[in-house]
Amino acid sequence: MNGKSAFQERVGKALEDDFLRRSVRETQDRLRGGRVAAAADWGDWEALRTRGEAIRRHTVEHLDVYLDRFATRVEEAGGHIFFADTAEDARRYILQLAVAKGVSSVVKSKSMVSEEIGLNHALEAEGVEVTETDLGEFIIQLAGETPSHIIAPAIHKNRKQVAELFSREAGRTLSDATEALTAYARRRLREKFLRADMGITGCNFGVAESGSVVLVSNEGNARLTSSLPRIHVVVMGMERLVPRWKDLDVLLTLLTRSATGQKITSYVTAITGPRRSGDADGPEELHIVVVDNGRSALLGTKYQHVLHCIRCGACLNVCPVYRHIGGHAYGSVYSGPIGAVLTPLLNGLEKYGELPYASSLCGACTEACPVRIPLHELLLELRRDQVEEGLSPRVEQMAFRGFAWMAEDPKRFFAAAKLGQWLTRPLADEAGRLKKGMGPLSPWTESRDFPRPASQAFRDWWRREGRREGGTDDGSTR
Ligand code: SF4
Repeated sequence: MNGKSAFQERVGKALEDDFLRRSVRETQDRLRGGRVAAAADWGDWEALRTRGEAIRRHTVEHLDVYLDRFATRVEEAGGHIFFADTAEDARRYILQLAVAKGVSSVVKSKSMVSEEIGLNHALEAEGVEVTETDLGEFIIQLAGETPSHIIAPAIHKNRKQVAELFSREAGRTLSDATEALTAYARRRLREKFLRADMGITGCNFGVAESGSVVLVSNEGNARLTSSLPRIHVVVMGMERLVPRWKDLDVLLTLLTRSATGQKITSYVTAITGPRRSGDADGPEELHIVVVDNGRSALLGTKYQHVLHCIRCGACLNVCPVYRHIGGHAYGSVYSGPIGAVLTPLLNGLEKYGELPYASSLCGACTEACPVRIPLHELLLELRRDQVEEGLSPRVEQMAFRGFAWMAEDPKRFFAAAKLGQWLTRPLADEAGRLKKGMGPLSPWTESRDFPRPASQAFRDWWRREGRREGGTDDGSTR
């Protein structure tokens, strides 16, 4: 045991991975640059953000109404709807459906909520073959890993690593040329699409007025997943609704420009009900699983804002912490600023209490968020809750209690300052900087210097110099 938590271990490992850090940096810069250019191209981006925020706020404030309307329209269009209170309920429904319908092969398009509920493992444990069909997800599935970015799940893998994974899958050595790798993935995935009994997708937005599910993708895999197999299952977070099509227009514009800098993605698919007579394609059955899994507990609380998220990933692309540690260090399905807020809320501060501290509180995430979620303020709230619930480390609680005792009395404060000067004198170099601190200071000085407390307190200086200038002891001027 080296005294480090699992989170600290993961962070340390990520910081030593040069490829990961370069790759995350390049992806962040490309996506952030795209977003900034796309926002400028739009014109009055701030006005659009205001409209997006208002739509999300209204929808979440009236979520019961819109969920009810959505469910009614889905059933009118011939679909089935299931409200899952927990991840387990959602998994059970989909598993029972798969067993009842004799499903042996499933294709999936990218869905963070299906990662959240651990769907793949549950299906595989029942002997169902599951194939991820988004290229990035296909890569990490072969690697046995989880996504490291909401919209670019395999940014931590280079071409050579992908070639090794694909070669292992193919049983022969493949070239690491990008064209060869994508051609292999396309061939392999086509076979899976044609054999699959069930297609599982996420849901970027559900439109309440028509009961439609809207999917946004760049690879066309979501369209094949939802139309080729005989059963289509949609797994959606309960907050992913918009009231009307004209609201979707605003949010789609914000989503694609914020996510990838595109005016619109290559494919935007809207699905209303299963195949009707006369339709050329489409599934025989459509099942929509609406997942709560802790979301409804946030309604009416100071954290309700987090339900406004449209999963664009823009906050990850500006976060200085994510830039250095990547997604896996967070140890959760959702990473970056949104993950640091959402994960403790859905899974408990007891287990994920370190995540709200994975932030410099610079506010760049809040600034980038297209629907203006005050992410850095929510992180602060979580830190506050942690202290109030007594979940912060005992040493930290004692340290702050000691600091409060010292700081509330000027005599004690100045005595402590003098003691600090005296204690740190032998440790400082000529420039007055501590290169190797002790105790709680040592993690700080592992990566940067710590300035030694000034040899003269400001108040002492003021007493001497300020008086000459006509000041008073308390710092005021006469
Ligand atoms: S919190 Fe905002 S910026 Fe981050 S993923 Fe959600 S919508 Fe995008």
